[in-house]
Amino acid sequence: MRTDVQVAVIGGGIVGVSVLYWLAKLGWTDTVLLERRELTSGSTWHAAGNTTYFGPYPKMTQLFAGSIRTYLQAQEESGQSVGFHETGSLRLAATQRELDLFHVYKPRFAQMGIPFHIRTPDEVSRLHPLIDAGDIFGAAHTPTDGHVDPTGATNAVAAAARTMGAAVERHCPVASLRPEGGKWLLETPAGTVTAQQVVVATSFWAREMLAAIGLNPPLFATQHHEIITETVPEIAVLDSELPAMRDSYVSCSVRQERDGLLIGIYETAPEFWALDGIPKDFKEELLPPNIDRLMPHLERLMERMPTFAQAGIKVANNGPMCFTPDGLPMLGPIPEKAGLWLASGFNVGIGTGGGSAEFLAKWITSGHPVPGLEAVHADRFGNDMTAEAALDAIRKVYARGYHLPDSI
Ligand SMILES: Cc1cc2nc3c(=O)[nH]c(=O)nc-3n(C[C@H](O)[C@H](O)[C@H](O)COP(=O)(O)OP(=O)(O)OC[C@H]3O[C@@H](n4cnc5c(N)ncnc54)[C@H](O)[C@@H]3O)c2cc1C
Repeated sequence: MRTDVQVAVIGGGIVGVSVLYWLAKLGWTDTVLLERRELTSGSTWHAAGNTTYFGPYPKMTQLFAGSIRTYLQAQEESGQSVGFHETGSLRLAATQRELDLFHVYKPRFAQMGIPFHIRTPDEVSRLHPLIDAGDIFGAAHTPTDGHVDPTGATNAVAAAARTMGAAVERHCPVASLRPEGGKWLLETPAGTVTAQQVVVATSFWAREMLAAIGLNPPLFATQHHEIITETVPEIAVLDSELPAMRDSYVSCSVRQERDGLLIGIYETAPEFWALDGIPKDFKEELLPPNIDRLMPHLERLMERMPTFAQAGIKVANNGPMCFTPDGLPMLGPIPEKAGLWLASGFNVGIGTGGGSAEFLAKWITSGHPVPGLEAVHADRFGNDMTAEAALDAIRKVYARGYHLPDSI
């Protein structure tokens, strides 16, 4: 095991492996990634893998676009499939304001070279015959996005990083970190790792890990549900895969999963998990699902997609998912802790992990952030936000689900 490195990355989810990958791409291979258990052991293994260009926050489109590019590049380089399905996505306009905003966003997508069309309700029905388009104003259509297999993507990115010379250590939990002599010392069961720089990519575990050195990042675990249905006969007869649908009225995303539907739900009254501390023996686990809480959303989905009313539920998953008070990840150096970087707080980490890692790795290797993404800088909450204030803000931002932001 490498015990004296330029950069140690802690955490082997999609974000940690992507940081390792991008550091290697930029020529920094004196690195090691330390993962507590297996790669993907946190939220990554149970994610739906949606990688749209059109996330909840338009300013993050750059990160979404960079993520799909990262995964496809790593697939090419590693020879391992990331399972990309290019289904495209429809972001429904449930209100006239949403449709107006899509027109505002359109030039941004054109600038980035991302195909983006505004569809009429009739066109939506043709693209997605299961949607009842009677009550919508139209949709934004991004035809070249879709979804990946999160485990496949993580492994492909890690394999490509290794091929370039980076190292990965699994079953190597970091028990503590501390600065000493201008470097960082990381204690692991396999011995002390000395690193000039450290990237903390441990998602909701980062809060406790950093509290031990006097930091107070507002990173908390929400409970997030997804539902997978049994086979839907109307889907089984289709020749091509349906585009994903996102809808503020239902507060859900819905995509095809084999011959059924996979539904991710942003509840209006979200619940947290493990506020008293992440259980020390937490493995690759899901939390008990609570279908009653989802019913208001599922009833709306039956209006929007009447076929869903006939579909049997095969699986209901409830997984912990990291959230910050504004719903954006925390990326960048930690003030007054020279050499310590944060890459945590992702609630759409498959969608944005690859692109965020590119952004962070460029910052680490050049000393300067790419401008324009100040909204994700790690220092934006300061160090004094109370847990109550953070939880209150997270509740509000989570409940907004697929609502577009108030400001343009
Ligand atoms: C039901 C559900 C569906 C989702 N669907 C989507 C989706 O469709 N699209 C999307 O973009 N996002 C989705 N997400 C969110 C997505 O799963 C996360 O945003 C993403 O996986 C976060 O990646 P990460 O690398 O930041 O964290 P994680 O995957 O949680 O990785 C953190 C890693 O750090 C390791 N670790 C922790 N402590 C230590 C330590 N002390 N030492 C060493 N290692 C440590 C953990 O073992 C873990 O492997 C979904 C989430 C849920 C719950």
